[in-house]
Amino acid sequence: MSPNDLMDKVVSLAKRRGLIFQSSEIYGGLASCWDYGAYGVLLKNAVKAAWWRSVVQERDDMVGQDAAILMRPEAWVASGHVATFSDPLVDCRTCKARFRADKLEDVQCPEKPSKCPGQHNACDLTEARSFNLMFKTFMGPVEESAATVYLRPETAQGIFVNAKNHMNTTRRRPPFGVAQIGKAFRNEITPGNFTFRTREFEQMEIEYFCPPDQSDAHWDAWVEARYQWYLNLGLKADRLRRRAQGSDELAHYAKATVDIEYLFPFGWSELEGIAHRGDYDLRQHAEHSGQDMSFFDDATREHWVPHVVEPSAGADRATLAFLVDAYDEETDEKGETRVVLRFHPRLAPIKVAILPLSKKTELAEPASRIAAAMRTRWTVETDTTGSIGKRYRRQDEIGTPFCVTIDFESLTDHAVTVRERDSMQQVRVGIDQLESWLAERLEPPTRQLGASWIFPAAVGGQA
Ligand code: ATP
Repeated sequence: MSPNDLMDKVVSLAKRRGLIFQSSEIYGGLASCWDYGAYGVLLKNAVKAAWWRSVVQERDDMVGQDAAILMRPEAWVASGHVATFSDPLVDCRTCKARFRADKLEDVQCPEKPSKCPGQHNACDLTEARSFNLMFKTFMGPVEESAATVYLRPETAQGIFVNAKNHMNTTRRRPPFGVAQIGKAFRNEITPGNFTFRTREFEQMEIEYFCPPDQSDAHWDAWVEARYQWYLNLGLKADRLRRRAQGSDELAHYAKATVDIEYLFPFGWSELEGIAHRGDYDLRQHAEHSGQDMSFFDDATREHWVPHVVEPSAGADRATLAFLVDAYDEETDEKGETRVVLRFHPRLAPIKVAILPLSKKTELAEPASRIAAAMRTRWTVETDTTGSIGKRYRRQDEIGTPFCVTIDFESLTDHAVTVRERDSMQQVRVGIDQLESWLAERLEPPTRQLGASWIFPAAVGGQA
């Protein structure tokens, strides 16, 4: 399958199976805006939950927050966004399209190929001019410049302005970090590649505040931790890489940045950037707000401004990478093709499908009772229509790891058939064992809480 075919297939599966629809489709669609459908929202929620679990729940040096999208405009002056958050915009005098001057190789001329062959060195381009990417709107009923507010172009600033609040309310001291998931808006010049570059998207960002002399070590550790996160959730290692940004690419605030990139069908592209921001942001906000953003170190009796490491990821880009990576087709000996999304169980929109072999109440009733029990723990779907083969295929297409079939034998042996998505192997499992059987496979324990791990020295065991 060629890369273009793969992307077309993923986009069409996403629409057909209720993962992702175009926004306002019945009105012809709104460019670069996408709606997540029934399975898509479950997938994206699972990506966000896995991120939160890894960067907040499983660490003792992190807290969370959820800031407002609208902020005082001064915050965007302090951050540098009003002055410098822009891309170089060029127009083509021939095809009238607009492009980002630094991304010309990524796009084709959309129109009039006879005049403008899609080779931008053959286009008649204007000089580049700076285009600010922030969406502006007005707060309150009067549309005047004093009422201008911006839709945030990143969630990060909502964390910086709350840094002192976190230190005061949680008694955290650097090194510690704050995590946040939320919408961000950028008036991108050339959005595209499905949900990869859109004008409204969701970010998953961390600001990690650390003592200046520890910041390099924390930066290295975050690059490694975030890279591992994608691998642990199943992205193929040969399609994932870390790339240090060159000095010409670095944002105005960054001392250094490593991007985590995925090999999408349209080429290597950024999933996340881990920036070493020094003390730029807190100093800027201190200066513009007149508030002290330094931290008093009880140990050294000194004031210092924490340095910041920022792992900044896109929820939509990560979701797209997991979707593309999971897509697979298999052809059996009869020449029939099975489309399967091989999601990591933690990300699968539906974890368990319950499939009674017949619609008769003898099977439908116990099936709905099993489904009700499983639902208290996992996302479950019951499907009673069509042949069992068709039902398996439907679940494969949305990546459901386990299908549970209830047949007439179940009435006497009190067991069900569980079919695994990737191997298609089937095993008979007692109904009273079903929950623990599934839990073992859907949520494998990370550690055995044995005495030898808790008290290694005393028990003579190993951590
Ligand atoms: P790019 O170079 O692709 O424009 P960026 O370097 O400007 O991205 P950051 O400002 O570092 O992106 O934002 C952090 C993360 O937010 C990115 O790694 C990406 O996952 C996500 N992101 C940024 N812009 C978009 C967008 N227009 N659509 C979807 N996700 C985005």
